[in-house]
Amino acid sequence: MIRYPNNLELRRLVHFCTEDGTIWLGENRMILLHVAALATLRKELFKLLGSEHTRRVLTRMGYVCGTQDAELTRKARGHDPIAAFIMGPQLHMLEGSVQVTPVKLEMDIAAGSFYGEFIWENSWEVHAHLEEFGLQSDPVCWMLLGYASGYTSSFMERFVLFKEVSCAASGAEHCRIIGKPVEEWSDAAEHTVYYEADALVSRLLELATQVDVLRSSLEAPLQIENMIGNSPAFLRAYQLVSKAAETNVTVLLTGETGVGKECFARALHRTSSRACEAFIAVNCAALPHDLIESELFGAEKGAFTGAHATRIGKFERADGGTLFLDEIGELPLIAQSKLLRVLQAGEVERLGGDQTRKVNVRIVAATNVDLQKAVKEGRFRADLFYRLHVYPIAIPPLRERVPDIPLMVEAMIKKFGTLHNKRIAGITDRAMQALKRYPWPGNVRELENLIERGIILTAQDDWIELDQFSLCLDSQAETDICLTKTGLLEEKHPPQQKQFCDDFLAMGLSLNELETLLLNEAVERSGGNLAGAARLLGLTRPQLTYRLKRNQDMTQEKE
Ligand SMILES: [Zn+2]
Repeated sequence: MIRYPNNLELRRLVHFCTEDGTIWLGENRMILLHVAALATLRKELFKLLGSEHTRRVLTRMGYVCGTQDAELTRKARGHDPIAAFIMGPQLHMLEGSVQVTPVKLEMDIAAGSFYGEFIWENSWEVHAHLEEFGLQSDPVCWMLLGYASGYTSSFMERFVLFKEVSCAASGAEHCRIIGKPVEEWSDAAEHTVYYEADALVSRLLELATQVDVLRSSLEAPLQIENMIGNSPAFLRAYQLVSKAAETNVTVLLTGETGVGKECFARALHRTSSRACEAFIAVNCAALPHDLIESELFGAEKGAFTGAHATRIGKFERADGGTLFLDEIGELPLIAQSKLLRVLQAGEVERLGGDQTRKVNVRIVAATNVDLQKAVKEGRFRADLFYRLHVYPIAIPPLRERVPDIPLMVEAMIKKFGTLHNKRIAGITDRAMQALKRYPWPGNVRELENLIERGIILTAQDDWIELDQFSLCLDSQAETDICLTKTGLLEEKHPPQQKQFCDDFLAMGLSLNELETLLLNEAVERSGGNLAGAARLLGLTRPQLTYRLKRNQDMTQEKE
């Protein structure tokens, strides 16, 4: 007889994060749902789609739940497969779905053989079904059965089909289920149909996809190279780019480092009438100062020491197309004045040459420094600034594009998976939540690096987990903020806190006096409103009242 081990370890996987409204089971986000709500959904589906479609939807839902739980137990599979497997029924019970009693369990993972027989009692589906429809002739524990099949198939890495051979909803004493590899069931086809995508639903989804495709081909295409996003901040910037693409206007892209200014510049080029001509990118900060002019404008042979051959500048190369001048703020003043002349005249003159050449180039400049400030400080020519500042577009930082992160991550997994020849199942809910909360000082580039490293660290066919990220972020000594296993951001002694501690210690106040100061300040700031003050301090109101009183008493005692 199989006995369950203590489920303490499984219960420890459950975390209630009441402050951010999330519940976790390991890395999976869960929800505490009323059975009444689920029963209502079941009933509504029944009325809307009929019993066959409802059964299919619920079976597939259950299958997903089972697959997710198998991720938790599969890791323990090696030591004692039966003990690892039995954690599935334990999780099913922990989640409140049903009481499971094993009757018989034989398995050999290497050989792929499996036979499992279980008794179910207290099935929520029996409860919900009887309440609404009364006694049934056929079994009704569809979602539960989907779970058993999903869990076991994922655990065994082959399709193991469970059947409910008797059900309490048809008057049996309890439900009984049997699972075997699908090939061993002679009537498998009658049951596997419930695991397949619903013809009706998939047809609807297919049509919805078609509509999306048509709509996006009517509107601006939003998936040019790395241009992925639906967030308002992204769409605003993209719309400005699209408008600029229709004209020849000089565009100035501003934004923090790593936000993808070059991607926007390329998108602008690709959607403009210049798309078939060259797109030339120059990083002004990466060029040695003495070569900038020859790089940009070209040089005749012998124009300077080392100019052994005639050099065609970037302006000439970009003729008819787009010239992208990244980090324009780093351009030395002398090159700035020459650039201004070229922009005004629309012609270039190579170094050491006397012939001017007409060039038809659209300029897209980019900077992550405040050019206006640079003008004030005399590092950037005011006239060039006004020449470039015709049509500025601010590219939003990644922290303002949180809704885009899942889309970007999906695309990055595809891209780097191919690059590193790795199949990745995806990213866990918890890891995704952490990505959404991280402030991304390095923006899209940082996200890209993180996902690439995550893919390298994740085993074939596995999920990218939060652990893989904290490992990477911890190794970055310069980041003050770290993603922790709880998915919360933890600040590792930011300099202000250190400063505060130093100041506090230097003042010679007692901890109690400091607390009193803080409490009084919070009360004052909230205009005497204790609930408001408590909120400021992250306390409950009774906690605050208690502390205020305690500190008052202590002060009086001292006096
Ligand atoms: Zn049943």
